[in-house]
Amino acid sequence: MPRGKSTNVYLSCKECKMQNYTTRINKKKTTKLEHNKFCASCKKMTPHASGSEIKHSS
Ligand SMILES: [Zn+2]
Repeated sequence: MPRGKSTNVYLSCKECKMQNYTTRINKKKTTKLEHNKFCASCKKMTPHASGSEIKHSS
């Protein structure tokens, strides 16, 4: 597992703000990310934006 290069972040629906997905981004290259994904809460495809970092407590 590479450490310090990529970060796990939540992808949250821009309409209902539900954190439906997670993805890995390289914070040095990517600050904002957006994907069209299916939102179970909205029951349709919506833009999902990268949001808060997933912290691992280990
Ligand atoms: Zn939604």
